[in-house]
Amino acid sequence: MVKIPSGCHCEHSDAKQSLQIWMRLFADTRQCARRGETARNDLMVIIMNWIYLSPHLDDAVLSCGGLIWEQVKSGLVVEIWTICAGFPPPTPLSPVAQALHDRWQTPASLRESVATRRAEDVLACRRLGAEPLHFDIPDCVYRRLPGGKPVVVEDQGMFAPIHPGEAYLVAEVFGQIKSNLPAQTCLVSPMTVGGHMDHRIVRAAAERLGQRLLYYADYPYAAQHPQELAAALVSFSRDYSLTVSQAGLRAWQDSVAAYHSQISTFWAGRTDLDAEVKAYWQAGMGNFLWQAAS
Ligand SMILES: [Zn+2]
Repeated sequence: MVKIPSGCHCEHSDAKQSLQIWMRLFADTRQCARRGETARNDLMVIIMNWIYLSPHLDDAVLSCGGLIWEQVKSGLVVEIWTICAGFPPPTPLSPVAQALHDRWQTPASLRESVATRRAEDVLACRRLGAEPLHFDIPDCVYRRLPGGKPVVVEDQGMFAPIHPGEAYLVAEVFGQIKSNLPAQTCLVSPMTVGGHMDHRIVRAAAERLGQRLLYYADYPYAAQHPQELAAALVSFSRDYSLTVSQAGLRAWQDSVAAYHSQISTFWAGRTDLDAEVKAYWQAGMGNFLWQAAS
């Protein structure tokens, strides 16, 4: 996951508004349950193997860490496939990528920096009992267009539609997922709240498979952009729920903290991280997966 520049208009100022929206969404769930319309969980009964697609080395864990821990505890086998975990070619960093590296304080070597982030992901997955798999496509901040120009040239540039010059990546990711995907697997895609281009690529590739998908709300974007979350959820309905316990929350917080290089991007420190994830959990988010509304 990449840096949200300081001063972003959506960061912490919307916390109170976020909580109000989450509580309304959670209340809707309880009302649905009373009407007998609660999430069906039918996949849980017949499919033991779950794969979460994570655009970057942190997204699935940040978004669903508690849920994944509870699933593993219940006997399910969970893998987390990180698509944009590739080692970039040894070209000079773009200004945006350099600014991110400065923030992350990862090793100066590009390869070692990615290796550090992969190691963080391995630790995070271990804390949840999930199996990581890292694909070879580099993060968008490392990619360049055919003419050599960086795909991302400004701080907010990654929160944009898929660049026309990278449309081929959807087919490439589709092919990689398809060739690795076992039969009888429940596949979970990012919903793309926040609009990050790598999240869009992963979702588009997953949808090209033509099989039933579940979706997770991309955290922390779902918390930072409450109006966008609410708008996105109009197109989805809850299809799976599992209560994340206090122990699940702790595992979630611990697994998020494993992404040491990313903490400064989103939180003031471990105490802030714990509080923010707990607030999201208390609002009922993190217990659900969705399907696209038909
Ligand atoms: Zn991401």
